[in-house]
Amino acid sequence: MPGGPLVPFTREEELIAGCARAFEAVDPEFARQFSRLAEHGLLDLMSRPGKAAGAFQVHLHASGLPFVFAGGVGRHEDLLTVLHEGGHAFHALACAADPLIWNRHPPIEFCEVAGMGMELLAAAHLRAFYDADTCARAARHQLEQLVLFLPHAAAIDAFQHWVYTRPDEARERAARDAAWLAQHRRLCQGVDWSGLEADRAALWQRRLHVFELPFYYIEYAIAGLGAVQLHRRALAEPAAAVADLRRALALGARARLPDLFAAAGLHFGTDRSAVRRAAAACRELLDL
Ligand SMILES: [Zn+2]
Repeated sequence: MPGGPLVPFTREEELIAGCARAFEAVDPEFARQFSRLAEHGLLDLMSRPGKAAGAFQVHLHASGLPFVFAGGVGRHEDLLTVLHEGGHAFHALACAADPLIWNRHPPIEFCEVAGMGMELLAAAHLRAFYDADTCARAARHQLEQLVLFLPHAAAIDAFQHWVYTRPDEARERAARDAAWLAQHRRLCQGVDWSGLEADRAALWQRRLHVFELPFYYIEYAIAGLGAVQLHRRALAEPAAAVADLRRALALGARARLPDLFAAAGLHFGTDRSAVRRAAAACRELLDL
């Protein structure tokens, strides 16, 4: 983040208490739910020797409670990870009472609206960790990251289509890098990569999805288009935005993806007009 690295916390208790305050500012019920998970020992958020890397939320169906796993070491990004996984946990709790287990597994695109949306909503309320100026910087940075992420996700998706439709060419290292660079140059413009060409060519290798989850990345872009709408709406009418979000989360998998977006007061779409609408929202929120 511009202005130097931040060290918002050093202990798990600080991280939990500060995130609970951020969730409280979005909606007090989210804070109560998060604190309940902490009381039940369902937040394992810090790194330690021998612990696996990564972060996830998993729904424990027998108890009806979610468990959040992360590997925090005190970075700003670790804090965002907990806000994101917290969004997934609230989603799990919202549909936990559905008697059919598969209805507690909503479409992944909407799950990520809950995760990415909560990052944006809560990132504006980090006063437990930062002073007011740094909070404003963090909230802006969060939105800027989303703006950079959307074309990056499109490049990863386009690259995967190339890999899986031209398998013979994709076996060649130089051809792979060239194909990736072509997509990245086409879609991710406006960043100066001078002197970092080799890093740019290897950038696709940072995405686990390319290796393990074919064609599963565009979901994050679809969710990002929803998350920015949610953020914008929550600034204009916070109570209605959160109430509609809760209603949509509670539907679980009992509605189609466009209907889940609609229930949350969001437009579903990936066409030019949907991207244009999201870009306009970002521009407005960033005051550009
Ligand atoms: Zn997620």
